[in-house]
Amino acid sequence: MYIVMLGAPGSGKGTIGKILSEDMRLTHISTGDIFREQISKQTELGKKIESYISNGMLVPDEVTIETVKTRLSEDDVKEGAILDGFPRTVAQAEALRDFLEAKNPSQKRIAIELDVPDSEIVKRVVNRVTCSNKSCGAIYNLETRKPKQEGICDICGSSLTKRADDNEETVSKRLAVYHANSKELLEFYAKNNRLYSVYPKQLDEAVANIKAYLENDKGSN
Ligand code: AMP
Repeated sequence: MYIVMLGAPGSGKGTIGKILSEDMRLTHISTGDIFREQISKQTELGKKIESYISNGMLVPDEVTIETVKTRLSEDDVKEGAILDGFPRTVAQAEALRDFLEAKNPSQKRIAIELDVPDSEIVKRVVNRVTCSNKSCGAIYNLETRKPKQEGICDICGSSLTKRADDNEETVSKRLAVYHANSKELLEFYAKNNRLYSVYPKQLDEAVANIKAYLENDKGSN
């Protein structure tokens, strides 16, 4: 099964995507994480995309689609994956559909929308801190999901860091970019009944609702 996580920045795609990934044994792929890694390694790709990300803009479709196709061609995602932060445009959604239809037509594809009011988003994003250990990547919120020890990851003991683009100015831009594309993107998935929307107010409850939906969904692709 391929699960696409849709939602504004800070809506919980990473947090919920990682929980589902462990529970369902599906690899979690975050385009944001892939891009940030490329930037920190200062690869050719990293240099090309750095200014888009720091300005809260989308990386061009062509680059993003190529990056995801390469990642989805690896062995660990042959049976499915959880895509967090991709697609963000209809062109990306169409490219993903065409790619999976050609490569893996028997696997189900479902989109989950995390629908959080804008008024909550800014608060969530400015309070977000993430584990610096890439293989852990746990996400905390300094108000609602605090680490037990300040600055230290509960799970692996690594230091916690704040993303460079998680500030009030950039988040407003990222939200505007999200809303500019989200209507069409949600329609794209709703058209063939492949969309489940949830307001993730309580994390446990949201995860349980999504899992119940996925278990009961008997539809085909
Ligand atoms: P995220 O970690 O998902 O919040 O993504 C961080 C940033 O990476 C975004 O603000 C974009 O600049 C870029 N990015 C991530 N995923 C995509 C995508 N699917 N399309 C274009 N840009 C993306």
